[in-house]
Amino acid sequence: MHTSGTADAALPAVVDHAAEIRAAGLKVTAPRVAVLQGLAASPHATADQLYDSISSTLTGTSLQAVYGVLAAFTTAGLVRRIEPAGSAALFERRVGDNHHHIVCTRCHSVRDVECVTGEAPCLTPSDTAGFVVQTAEVTFWGLCPDCQADTAADIP
Ligand SMILES: [Zn+2]
Ligand SMILES: [Zn+2]
Repeated sequence: MHTSGTADAALPAVVDHAAEIRAAGLKVTAPRVAVLQGLAASPHATADQLYDSISSTLTGTSLQAVYGVLAAFTTAGLVRRIEPAGSAALFERRVGDNHHHIVCTRCHSVRDVECVTGEAPCLTPSDTAGFVVQTAEVTFWGLCPDCQADTAADIP
């Protein structure tokens, strides 16, 4: 392995995120790199959570700027936006695999669920009304293990 002696010799993780942003056809900026790093650390994060995690290291960032970055990333296909009923929009790095989500009805924690049959789209509607199906988005609802334990303890 040879290093190519690039001028922007930063931390490997930073270089990586910058390259991803560039590959998506976007200009690399500090807030964009920070948001991508934040998402790598905490998938299914809200804009507020991401702002909280980067605002300490990136002074001068606004929540509005984070929303702008997330909108650009979503359009460019770098992040996926999901919006379970009753929840703020959540953002994640895992894109393009048509995976689904399971959401806790009590604490709203979110987990990834693999595609039901392994191939996207994994749902075949009985009638597509002439549409060509490209993706199928499924949200499973239930009680997470923590909440199951909590509610079991509540029963007298
Ligand atoms: Zn829960
Ligand atoms: Zn996910």
